[in-house]
Amino acid sequence: MKQVPTPQTSQSDELFATLLGLANDVLGSNNEVAVCGVGCGGPMTRNGEAVSPLNIPAWREFPLRDQLREGLGMDVCIDNDAKALTLGEAWFGAGKDLSNFLAMVVSTGIGGGLFIDGRLLDGSAGNAGHIGHVIVEPEGADCACGSRGCLEAEASGPSIGRRLGADPSTADAYEKRRAGMLVGRAVASVVNLLDLERVLIGGSVALGFGDEFFAAANMELLERCHLDFSRGVRISPVGLGTEAPLVGAAVVGFRSLGIDARARLI
Ligand SMILES: [Zn+2]
Repeated sequence: MKQVPTPQTSQSDELFATLLGLANDVLGSNNEVAVCGVGCGGPMTRNGEAVSPLNIPAWREFPLRDQLREGLGMDVCIDNDAKALTLGEAWFGAGKDLSNFLAMVVSTGIGGGLFIDGRLLDGSAGNAGHIGHVIVEPEGADCACGSRGCLEAEASGPSIGRRLGADPSTADAYEKRRAGMLVGRAVASVVNLLDLERVLIGGSVALGFGDEFFAAANMELLERCHLDFSRGVRISPVGLGTEAPLVGAAVVGFRSLGIDARARLI
């Protein structure tokens, strides 16, 4: 696995050049790769033809798919990064034996993907699962999406950093439990809405906050879910850990080729 820091730039081309350089570095002289799978922050138009990640202001309606296809000389398939993580978990992670689950990333942003009746939900424009913009505090903080009190505005890494006036990694037990509680609150509505079996959460904030975050999230879920089918649903960490988003991006590529690894595994 290779990685580079995101350049702090408002220049869309400069940011893309960094990404392309990394992809070419990983590709090397390998000419047997059939497709490049990408997980990108949302929102985006279908298939990532134009991406506008809320956390990357330099890219607004950026033509990521065309630019990567041209730069790499191969087919490129793009999906939302949290949907990609969901596919990765469904094929190779903690969702392998599940047919109905939500997988989430709680990190710089908060996103999710819905695996329902054995397949990933796309929605009308491919953006299904944006749980980061479920309202958890009606009078809460302003959100980059234009609303207020969204889960992402209250419990993402940057929002916790703003509350603390310090890096979120310095959060105390109260802040860790608060983030977990708010995530549990948003998750409870989704569990009741969609009759889920499990919720899987990854991302640097959730995994970094660890047991205190997950305990608070599960306690809130327990308090808010009382229907016969939703009582007892649990939130647990993703099975693929910090590699979940990257594995998910690969699965986005497989999916575009019509390969269904889950069908083979069954
Ligand atoms: Zn929002």
